[in-house]
Amino acid sequence: MEIRIGKFLIETERGDIANQQDMDAVVNAANAALTTGGGVAGALHTAAGPGLYKECKPLAPIKPGEAVITGGHNLPNKFVIHCLGPVYGRDEPAADFLENCYKRALELAEENKIRSVAFPAISTGIFGYPLKEAAQIAVETVLNAIPAFKHLQKIKFVLFSEEDLRVYNEMLSEIKK
Ligand code: ADP
Repeated sequence: MEIRIGKFLIETERGDIANQQDMDAVVNAANAALTTGGGVAGALHTAAGPGLYKECKPLAPIKPGEAVITGGHNLPNKFVIHCLGPVYGRDEPAADFLENCYKRALELAEENKIRSVAFPAISTGIFGYPLKEAAQIAVETVLNAIPAFKHLQKIKFVLFSEEDLRVYNEMLSEIKK
């Protein structure tokens, strides 16, 4: 699905964050140590190759709500933006930490003159954040940031399951009305 807000494009798709051919940057749902692991981080580090972790190591550890940027190494993207989302039920207030992840990721994208960024559903896997609540924060934070964009032209939300895609699409359909 895609919706246009002025010149800005928001897309959703069911897919793999490690296989985003046409995007300047992809976002990693990282862990504090910026190491590989399961889920999104595992997929990105595997596809990027060991150079990604070498670049990450001196930047770690990061705190919930923080983000750092690296090159994309063997990924089809020029940049990876690594965000540490909150562990639901542990890092409180979780909503503020999650919002800060999206804000910082978008700021880093602008600082690096990035035109397009693909986001996974940060914190909704191993970190246990309920998908619908997390989706609301993701969509609202992007919408609020649009007026400040100078370089960004497109955000894509890449969802792993059909059900997650449905939740995002429902939310974006509400905006369209
Ligand atoms: P976190 O630790 O922040 O919860 P995870 O990587 O465990 O991060 O999961 C975040 C979300 O990304 C979950 O919804 C999960 O289903 C989804 N996901 C897992 N692997 C991929 C992938 N390769 N591409 C896109 N999304 C993925």
